[in-house]
Amino acid sequence: MKTYNRFPLDLIRGKGSWVWDQKGRKYLDGVAGIATCSLGHSDKALIKSLSKQLKRLQHVSNLYGIPEQEELAQWLTSQSFAKSVFFCNSGAEANEAAIKLARKYGHIERNIDNPVILCSKESFHGRTLAAVSATGQTKYHKGFEPMVQGFQFFSYNDSESFENLFDTLEKTGPQIAAVFIEPIQGEGGINIGKKSFFELLRKKCTRSNVLLIFDEVQTGMGRTGTLWGYEQLGIEPDVFTLAKGLGGGHAIGALLVNQLADVFQPGDHASTFGGNPFACRAALTVGQEIQKRDLLNKVTERGNQLKEGLIKLSNKYSDIFISTRGVGLIQGLVIKDNIKTTSLDIVKSALEEKLLLVSAGVKVLRIVPPLTITKKEINELLSRLDKCLMKLS
Ligand SMILES: *Cc1c(COP(=O)(O)O)cnc(C)c1O
Repeated sequence: MKTYNRFPLDLIRGKGSWVWDQKGRKYLDGVAGIATCSLGHSDKALIKSLSKQLKRLQHVSNLYGIPEQEELAQWLTSQSFAKSVFFCNSGAEANEAAIKLARKYGHIERNIDNPVILCSKESFHGRTLAAVSATGQTKYHKGFEPMVQGFQFFSYNDSESFENLFDTLEKTGPQIAAVFIEPIQGEGGINIGKKSFFELLRKKCTRSNVLLIFDEVQTGMGRTGTLWGYEQLGIEPDVFTLAKGLGGGHAIGALLVNQLADVFQPGDHASTFGGNPFACRAALTVGQEIQKRDLLNKVTERGNQLKEGLIKLSNKYSDIFISTRGVGLIQGLVIKDNIKTTSLDIVKSALEEKLLLVSAGVKVLRIVPPLTITKKEINELLSRLDKCLMKLS
């Protein structure tokens, strides 16, 4: 079905930060499957561990114990504040699980008949019906109404908007089950969460026994230079979700909780594929390689290098750009509002320079390369971007 406007090329092969199309043309990959191929393409360690896993065991039901799943849960909980994990297959699914968890928590812990979840107007949480209902950007709702009820919206990084909504709802008694938010908004335009705003969220949620849930589908697993996006904000949520970079290109999602392991009881939630041996082996390998290769420090270094280059380009092409935004290897160039140029125009022009980039909304160009991208490749990326901007300006 035509769910995507596709670019006119087929990608058939990849190695590291590079991909090749059906005509043998080679592209530098600043997209990485949209912040997903953490270790780049055809990574040796991933090939080795997954080949071994395929020969041993690929899939069994969650009706039985799965050692690879236990091992991955051990790793994730040892590296975060979380104590328990539920595994699924994608970001939207992880968020669905978080929404169900929040609602059940609202019913059993706060005695709310119709629990409300507060979300940001600029958010993106995925395309399943509840995840898209939690997504504040109404362009994603069009044609799919009626939306799932029980979501209300405030403006991101806007303390007044958040406090007004929170206090109005809680005035007559408990109504809110959770606040659900991205520490950095990805699709919404690489909006970096403000520390003071998130401190307020933490304070209000703690005081009222409301869950604070982070959607770390895009920011988790090292993308920002810390393993989790919440580390950048200096606060901890109660729950967070992962997908994208977790499996290094293989389908896996996760819901991680601190104290709430007992909210879901047997029969409450499930997934056939979730947490299968193959997917868990992929995520375990990604985690181990992030540590073995010191990738968090490398992401910070490469991120700073990329950011410096982007600032130079933003100044050089000040007729096109207002600013840059980003942390680590999730970076964006912000296009002026009062000009016709869109992020898609630049993405198309970059394609001619054999550089893959992706939009984050109409006016933000997003750069999310593999976490393994080298210093030389970042310079090459910046030089190709420079060439394409020269043509556009
Ligand atoms: C991509 C994304 C999702 C959706 O993930 P899927 O795996 O496509 O379902 C949800 N939240 C955020 C923040 C994302 O970036």
